Amino acid sequence: MSQNITIQEAIQKVELANEIFTKLKIQQADRPLEKMLKVGEILLAKKDEFARVITSEMGKPVFESIAEIEKSALNCEFYVENVAEFLKDRKYETDRYDALVRYEPLGVILGVMPWNFPFWQVFRFAVPTILAGNTVVVKHASNVPKSAQLIEEIFLEAGFEKGTYQNIPLDSKHIQEIIELQQIKAVSLTGSEKAGSAVASVAGKEIKKTVLELGGSNAFIVMDDADLDKILEKAINARYRNAGQSCIAAKRFLVQEGIFDEFLEKFTQKVKELKVGDPFDAETQIGPLARVDLAEEAEKQVSKSVEMGAKIVFGGKRDEAFYYPTVITEITDEMPVFKEETFAPIAVVRKFKTFEEAIELSNKTSFGLGVSICSKNIEEVSKKVHLFEEGAVFFNELVRSDPKLPFGGVKKSGFGRELSEEGIREFTNIKTIFFS
Ligand code: NDP
Repeated sequence: MSQNITIQEAIQKVELANEIFTKLKIQQADRPLEKMLKVGEILLAKKDEFARVITSEMGKPVFESIAEIEKSALNCEFYVENVAEFLKDRKYETDRYDALVRYEPLGVILGVMPWNFPFWQVFRFAVPTILAGNTVVVKHASNVPKSAQLIEEIFLEAGFEKGTYQNIPLDSKHIQEIIELQQIKAVSLTGSEKAGSAVASVAGKEIKKTVLELGGSNAFIVMDDADLDKILEKAINARYRNAGQSCIAAKRFLVQEGIFDEFLEKFTQKVKELKVGDPFDAETQIGPLARVDLAEEAEKQVSKSVEMGAKIVFGGKRDEAFYYPTVITEITDEMPVFKEETFAPIAVVRKFKTFEEAIELSNKTSFGLGVSICSKNIEEVSKKVHLFEEGAVFFNELVRSDPKLPFGGVKKSGFGRELSEEGIREFTNIKTIFFS
């Protein structure tokens, strides 16, 4: 396990990041497209090695770790292909004046990153941010130190100058001092509401921009006319991938009364078939949670809900860091499994009568990341998209991130967007240039 650095060492790294940024800015250096492509190539060439590190550090099945590395590589290619278009000057002409808007980099950007997708979350932030001309320093989660170090090494191996991407393994109690440094221009954080609030408070006081990607409690709505054969597998993936440790996982299944019994039976049958075990075993679909305390927290949420009247249809057991796939019904609004984020393989299944009621239940959470709606009559249900308090609405599909599409939430899920052209512009100065 790599050691934490001191606050003085971290400050030196921020100073180096600022020197590199300033040098590249003065030189008006070309975008490092070749180097970023090389980052993607290294990821793919060493994906088995990197995947084993992810799995050993946070427990996800190895096939999921490989998919995470591949997606990170895809993100490099995507932004290399599109950055010129996303950040090209925009011209504004009228009969009285000409003007243009230019997207300029801001400087050193701090990333505070989580352990649930230890490569993907970092690449999603760092690739566009660097291609926009910034430099980055990353404070990664303390339970994935090797992944954190490897990512810095990948950027160096690809030919990026030391200081463009730096890992700062620092105790989170020092992050306030880092945000306050004048060289730090903005912060991107993915993680819990508590961490997001702490970091954004300091950044707000310093008048520094933040992008926050926090928790979620997505609903997965199944209408009476949904095609169960098509959506069941998606429903399982939406909840149980990464052992449920994903902000965009479907956590609350809202099912219309006419199809409720059939859905519950078929869904539970599939949950029973999930293979739990050693994440290095190629057959395993559910590994341990990333830390014992996370499994204990899940156990508490379930037992409290059961005390309040919830019924466990399947699962509900913990063994050290393993939390076994679980299905729960007879849910009310106040139960922790309904109103809090469950970061574990726990699905709650709740009945509704009308689509209006489903919308109300879907919105009955402090989060607003995304929702899935399953129906054969998309034309009809899509008329109500505007009523969902969410960053994304997916029809007949699980909510997922895609480099081509903006990603982010509303309410306590955070603010700002990652990915697509929206994401890359977050850490730019949108400069208006006026010619009279
Ligand atoms: P945290 O939010 O504590 O961790 C995420 C990152 O934030 C880590 O790098 C962590 O560092 C850092 N951090 C935590 N507190 C502060 C702080 N006060 N100032 C600066 N940085 C801070 O998540 P947990 O690991 O504790 O997970 C708890 C819950 O958070 C989960 O059960 C889940 O609900 C949610 N979560 C959501 C994620 C998402 O994808 N949106 C990802 C991870 C968690 P360090 O590790 O050193 O504490």
